[in-house]
Amino acid sequence: MLKRTVYCGELTAEHVGQTVVLNGWAHSVRDHGGLIFIDLRDRTGLIQTVADPNSAPEAHAAAAGVHSEWVLAMEGRVRRRPAGTENPKLSTGEVEVELTRVEPLNAAKPLPFQVDQDSPVNEELRLKYRYLDLRRPAMYRKLKLRNDAVRRIRDYMYEQGFIEVETPIMTKSTPEGARDYLVPYRLQPGLFYALPQAPQQFKQLLMVAGVEKYFQIAKCFRDEAQRADRQPEFTQLDLEMSFVEQDDILRVVEGLTIDVVEALSDKKLLKPFARLTYDEAMARFGTDKPDLRYALELADVGGILKDTGFGVFRGALDSGGQVKALRYPGGASLSRKEIDDLTNMAKEAGAKGMAYLLVDEGGAVRSPIAKFLTEEETAGLLAAAEAEAGDLIAFIADKPAVVAKALDRLRREIGARLKLADPNLLAFCWITDFPCFEWDEEYNRWTFAHNPFAMPHPGHIDLIDSDPAAMRSFCYDLACNGSEWASGSIRIHKPDIQRAIFRKLGYNDEQIEEQFGHMLEAFTLGAPPHGGIAPGIDRLIMYLTDDENIREVIAFPKMGGGIDPMMGSPSPVDESQLKELGIRVVLPPPPG
Ligand code: ASP
Repeated sequence: MLKRTVYCGELTAEHVGQTVVLNGWAHSVRDHGGLIFIDLRDRTGLIQTVADPNSAPEAHAAAAGVHSEWVLAMEGRVRRRPAGTENPKLSTGEVEVELTRVEPLNAAKPLPFQVDQDSPVNEELRLKYRYLDLRRPAMYRKLKLRNDAVRRIRDYMYEQGFIEVETPIMTKSTPEGARDYLVPYRLQPGLFYALPQAPQQFKQLLMVAGVEKYFQIAKCFRDEAQRADRQPEFTQLDLEMSFVEQDDILRVVEGLTIDVVEALSDKKLLKPFARLTYDEAMARFGTDKPDLRYALELADVGGILKDTGFGVFRGALDSGGQVKALRYPGGASLSRKEIDDLTNMAKEAGAKGMAYLLVDEGGAVRSPIAKFLTEEETAGLLAAAEAEAGDLIAFIADKPAVVAKALDRLRREIGARLKLADPNLLAFCWITDFPCFEWDEEYNRWTFAHNPFAMPHPGHIDLIDSDPAAMRSFCYDLACNGSEWASGSIRIHKPDIQRAIFRKLGYNDEQIEEQFGHMLEAFTLGAPPHGGIAPGIDRLIMYLTDDENIREVIAFPKMGGGIDPMMGSPSPVDESQLKELGIRVVLPPPPG
């Protein structure tokens, strides 16, 4: 085989006159009645090659049999392209290779879709033939970017004194709020390993072991509803440190984030990263993942409405709820239908409805609810919402959680419609002091807000019976442009506090012992204060590439429903395998 002496994408005018050997794929083949042009592609790029029947009849004859995506080895001389035929769009566009030998290494049938074009291809087809999809230069660039990011992360972590430790994939359930993937244990049917939702317990136990600074590029597995930004298995930079406080962890991750983003992209950052407590973020933006690229803050107008006679607002306030306002700049010109669309969005987010005021260009106020408000109230509402002529002011009146969710939804919608966010800005923002617990309406019980291992603020453990909702923990997220990219906490390292938290989460003592006895015991055997965090690698790459679909930044992702159409997984297994595992499959009755 003719072995490569240079990559296609590396050829420049400096190579003119040299004889080179190239290996790669026929990106496109053009027969110009006599001359045959083959654009050869390897992972670095494209180079135009030419077979001339007069000067190299054998190479020309071989080139004549070549089709798109054949695998080739070629030898030839680099020359300048004739004047006027340069291709400025191609880094190699000044030169071409005049072929002297063409060695087909393998033929290729016509592909199920073209890799030489960026035309949209059905995603299922792309994933079924992911290895062809990844041949596209744009996809290779993402794999390479991901490689560069992970390499940079590793270097940064090593420089900071961390060591990388691998932790098991076959392990025991560790709660992060999702369902587990289970692996049956053949030697004792009925027992199962769980795939880790995070290496949480192992990294804490590594702190008890005295490792002090651990990290891992870790696969995590969570069986939860699929969304465009979620995969059943995903990758985190998992890290944990001993003898630290919250600020130490934030400093490491902030430094790392800035280092990676600045080295690998032209994205702008707001430095230092903003910091908001959870309560502030919820009050001002209705979410713990605010998009800080634009202002638009929620205004609590409960005070202005304290004496209101308007039933909808009155009812919400009297039952301990809130009334909050959000400004839609220029929204007064929306049609009735467009306002209905906004209302429906608020309803989908759980609100019963959306009240609004429209401020005409002249300053006059129009609104179906104007007649229920006093002049003073209307003026107060407009002032609180910082309304300007031409604006729509939206109001949601409900329980705080509903108000937050609906206005967050509307804020994102308004931001997107008015293109308020600078697409080249990554506005990272720390959210700190999360509640320890959230009330789970569906199951009527307390659940953890982050995971059960977050350390409550000093003294807050005493509120566990009297006012658990008021308990705050040293739990922090790093949000960016409206999504979450890292989540972590200072951990509990005292067994009595950890036990109290598990009890509150509804575990009885036997379950605590069975599921977490090893952790509690470790905390009695010299556990240092410690904490950590886990930024998402997939999400980081999405920030850098502007992809909104996580599947674009993972080499072999799953489709919706967790299906891999390339491997055909998940798939049935042999009856004998099931028998060995003591498993009988009971299919649900067919629908209908
Ligand atoms: N287990 C992680 C941590 O607190 C968070 C996560 O996996 O989402 O470090």
